[in-house]
Amino acid sequence: MLSWTIGQVKITSIVESETPTSPRFMFADVDKNGVIERAAKAPWLLPHFVNDQGYLLQKIQCLVIETGERRIAVDTCIGNDKERSNELWSHLQGPFLDDMAAAGYPPESITHVVCTHLHVDHVGWNTRLVDGAWVPTFPNARYLFVETEHEHWKTTESLFEGDDVFGDSVAPISEAGLADLVEADHRVCDEVSFQPTPGHTPGHISVVIESDGDRAIITGDMTHNPLQIADPDLSTMFDTDSDAARSTRRAVFPGWADGTTLVIGTHFGSPTAGTMHPDGDGYRLQV
Ligand SMILES: [Zn+2]
Repeated sequence: MLSWTIGQVKITSIVESETPTSPRFMFADVDKNGVIERAAKAPWLLPHFVNDQGYLLQKIQCLVIETGERRIAVDTCIGNDKERSNELWSHLQGPFLDDMAAAGYPPESITHVVCTHLHVDHVGWNTRLVDGAWVPTFPNARYLFVETEHEHWKTTESLFEGDDVFGDSVAPISEAGLADLVEADHRVCDEVSFQPTPGHTPGHISVVIESDGDRAIITGDMTHNPLQIADPDLSTMFDTDSDAARSTRRAVFPGWADGTTLVIGTHFGSPTAGTMHPDGDGYRLQV
């Protein structure tokens, strides 16, 4: 189980799944040969983030930020029992909550839930199925949703047609009175704040952790794979607004690439985090 220490803060990764992924799942213009070509120009991508067969090495994880007083769960994966059009994600029966408890974080100990955005793989464990109803998995937490993101998905079809992501994983939180709608630059506490990174979705945020002069960033999906660190102009098919997503990467990466900030990729294969450095027209991630 990966964890990182940022000053007085501990960040722990709880992995729901980790699998090689075909680039065609994500990128319209990059196939396996394209990945191999890009890795030849940016060899640091191998072996952690892509493999020599041209697959992307991806994971789905929740990152728990522990500040002492607070336990903030960032992104809640796919979840169990959800009816999903992607059969790999439908009616899962995984050990995620047991793994979380084994890491020292039983559900009732979580004080805040943060979703970088409201796509299917970031909200699933917001709720769990109890006696046929979706109930909050983290009963003592405030769930922080960015208002523009919440309003968008309330009235927009899910990323994958037919999935009722908002209905089974977001609306029940509001109905239980546990949701707080906040701004995209919200500050959760002294150590944890949001950085607006729109484009992938309208209210997408990254999460900034600062303590004792150390800093880390949790990317969310404004960068799915470090291929987009090497080439910030590379957008995925899942972006609501590809041009805005590109502009966001170009705008925020210079501030992240100071050589000391730990950049933790929400979907990056292990070891998942590193420091960013300018490299040609893009950047590289040093693990
Ligand atoms: Zn995602």
